[in-house]
Amino acid sequence: MKYVKLAEVFDEIEATSKRLEMTDLLVKLIKDTPRDEISKVVYLLQGKLYPDYLGVELGIAEKLLIKAVAEIAGKSENLVDGDFKKSGDLGLTVEKLLQRKSQATLVKRPLTVSSVYDTFDKIAHAAGSGSVDLKIRLLRSLLNDASPLEGKFIARMAVGKLRLGVADMTVLDALAIAYGGDKSAREPLERAYNLSSDLGYVASVVAKDGLAGVEKFKITVGRPIRPMLCERLPSAREILEKLGGTGAAEYKYDGLRVQAHITSKEVHLFSRRLENITDQFPDVARLLKKTIKAKEAIVEGECIAVDIHTGDMLPFQVISQRRGRKHEIEKMAEEIPVTIFLFDVLYLNGKDQTLTPYLERRKQLLKIIEPSEHVKVAEQVEARDPDRLEQLMDEAVASGCEGLVVKNTSEQSVYQAGARGWLWIKYKRSYKAEVQDTFDLVPIGAFAGRGRRAGSYGALLMAVYNPKEEAFETLCKLGSGFKDEDLLNLPKMMQPYLIKQKHPRVNSLMQPDFWFVPSMVLEVAADEITLSPMHTCGWGLIRPRSGLALRFPRFTGNWRKDKGPEDATTSQESVEMYRKQLKQIEAEA
Ligand code: ATP
Repeated sequence: MKYVKLAEVFDEIEATSKRLEMTDLLVKLIKDTPRDEISKVVYLLQGKLYPDYLGVELGIAEKLLIKAVAEIAGKSENLVDGDFKKSGDLGLTVEKLLQRKSQATLVKRPLTVSSVYDTFDKIAHAAGSGSVDLKIRLLRSLLNDASPLEGKFIARMAVGKLRLGVADMTVLDALAIAYGGDKSAREPLERAYNLSSDLGYVASVVAKDGLAGVEKFKITVGRPIRPMLCERLPSAREILEKLGGTGAAEYKYDGLRVQAHITSKEVHLFSRRLENITDQFPDVARLLKKTIKAKEAIVEGECIAVDIHTGDMLPFQVISQRRGRKHEIEKMAEEIPVTIFLFDVLYLNGKDQTLTPYLERRKQLLKIIEPSEHVKVAEQVEARDPDRLEQLMDEAVASGCEGLVVKNTSEQSVYQAGARGWLWIKYKRSYKAEVQDTFDLVPIGAFAGRGRRAGSYGALLMAVYNPKEEAFETLCKLGSGFKDEDLLNLPKMMQPYLIKQKHPRVNSLMQPDFWFVPSMVLEVAADEITLSPMHTCGWGLIRPRSGLALRFPRFTGNWRKDKGPEDATTSQESVEMYRKQLKQIEAEA
């Protein structure tokens, strides 16, 4: 397929903020795409070459692109750079320069989706000496053959700024309609996506084998499964009621969630956000290889740091120091040893376990593990009585845990990959003290600072996530709780996410001075949740023309690097917290 066709659809998608229109455009695009190119189209749509878990980065610096463009357009790098500074978008600069370029002097070959993808792939894999020259050469060849419109999107893709705002679920809807006629096929497609975390792969399966292929979709060891998540409730009584009178209370360890894919040859570890973290935790990989008695398995657990002297569990912040390291990894493993508490098995010796009920999965898990000092199975007790649950909560907290995850034990208690549901309910200590839980919020904009904060941000505009609408809704302006140096660093930190206009998936009534692509997650504490006509969180759900806002929000200092923007506190959770707060106030009155 010609790349220009894709560029034209990108242009149309960019011009709409309506999800239905976007879906229609995608359906048409998918139908027009040859089957063997569908996965490439799906990746390119999201500005990627591979699923996120492979961590393949294009790695093209803006400077490099500027150099390539300058050569192609016969202009100086200074001129290109100057235009970029004005437009703020290398895509627009490239489009303009290619329009001016004398067309007659150059021989062009039409670009295809595959040629563009393959060239980017070569760029992504270029390494070692001479790789910079190779990247420039490859970029030049792309831009030489590109029309101005193609150039715009190639440039944005190259520097990681192709942001059409096409959410995963919109792609799944479009695949369902294109291959199944309507949205009813979305469910098996979504399941396939939840079991593989790879939209391109799901698209290629449905293109090749149709919906029948998707219905038979299989887990692959090495492709991470999207994690099952908990709902929350504030009391033992409500939790047991919700679970039909009985539940299995597991300790909620406060560390890093790890999904381990184990074969006789190798072990891969994935984080909660599905990054491959095997290289950061070689000790955990070795321990699991030794401890798990199975040919092939996918297990999940929480990794926590332990005090070398006392064996006590250490807070989340300690194990966090081992994340993202490239050097002295083995030394860190010695200094900060960890224990993994396993709590689930999702795949065992060729068999998908995600549809097996929880108690059975737990039995399987116990069978394949020989517990040792550093590999254990999560503490679990079945409880029917709220007082017993309270007691377990106290025990869990006393042993250094955050609280409990109380799990459904019925025959329906499958592993709901990629979903936050009521089969697992968390009960955290903070609710007990009747202090509100913290919020995990996403900065989607910022207000310019004044006085001491001149040149930096005065406050960030923070949002919750609304998974139904796939949108980010504002909840507060956040300006306190930051250390001075953090504040000074903020503009630099947020620079990669800076955009000219409101992101298509942001829902805001406020107009900040800067807009961001929703990317980071910050933990925020507050005194109270109030109704607000200025914020869009839970808009109209409590009162018409009102959303929710936080009173006295403050940053706790915790950058939730383990969470993606879609893992932020949801608007529904905020509405529930508001209702709880009302009840509490009523009870006290
Ligand atoms: P939080 O910020 O409360 O950890 P979260 O959004 O990361 O929440 P939730 O699904 O809401 O994730 O809470 C469950 C998390 O608790 C899991 O993601 C996992 O990392 C951790 N956890 C610790 N112990 C257990 C356990 N025994 N069973 C399941 N999850 C556990």
